[in-house]
Amino acid sequence: MKSVSIKYSDLKYNVGKIVCVGKNYKEHAEELGGTLPEFPLIFLKPPSAIIFSGEKVIHPSFTENLHYEAELVLLIGEDVSKADLETSEKAIIGYTIGLDMTARDVQFDLSKKGNPWTISKCFDTSAILTDFVLKKNYQLTLDEKIILKVNGEIKQNCELNKMVFKPAQIVQYISGIMALEKGDLIYTGTPAGVGRVVKGDKIEAEVTSIARLNTEIV
Ligand code: MG
Repeated sequence: MKSVSIKYSDLKYNVGKIVCVGKNYKEHAEELGGTLPEFPLIFLKPPSAIIFSGEKVIHPSFTENLHYEAELVLLIGEDVSKADLETSEKAIIGYTIGLDMTARDVQFDLSKKGNPWTISKCFDTSAILTDFVLKKNYQLTLDEKIILKVNGEIKQNCELNKMVFKPAQIVQYISGIMALEKGDLIYTGTPAGVGRVVKGDKIEAEVTSIARLNTEIV
C-alpha cells in the first residue's frame, strides 16, 4: 500500500484511490484539440502508479509519445459522499504538486476507437508526488502558479485561478458519483504546455509557495 507524507510532520496517509480531472484549463483543452467539458471529466489512476520526488519514471515500451502533465493535487482528509460545496472544501486538507504522466499516442488511439484509455494513464511510475502541505499551514489563494521545466527549460507556467472547476467544485462533483475517503487524492488537471519527454530528460515541477518535485525519465 502506498502512503503520502505531510511536510513538517510525521503524519502519513494511506492512499485509497487517485481521481484525476481532465481538460480543466481552457488552453490545455484546446491544445489537445478539444473543447471544455460541461462538468469535470474524471478518470482514475491506481495508487500502485505512485513514485516520489527524486525517484525515476520508467518510460513504458508501448508508447512513442510520453507526456508530462503538472497538476495541483488535493489530499482528502475525511470521508464525504454527496457533499455540498462547504463540506467539500472542508474535506480537502492538503495540497501538493504532482505529475500525471500520459502515453499520449495510446490515449488518442484508444479514445478514437471509443475504448477505455486506462493503460495510457495507469502504468507504473505514472503518478509522481511529493510531501503535502496541510491547509491549516497554508491557505490556497489560487494566485499560486504551476511551473514545469524539462532540462531547465520552462514548458508550463500558469496560475491556478485559470482552472475551470476549482478544488471544492471538483470534490463536490466527484463525491456525487463516488464516495471520497480519507487518503484519496485528486489530480486537478494540467495547464497548457504539455509535451513529449524521452529517456534522460529531467523534469522539475512546482506549485509556487506549496511544493516542488523532480524526476528523470529512464
Ligand atoms: Mg492530467
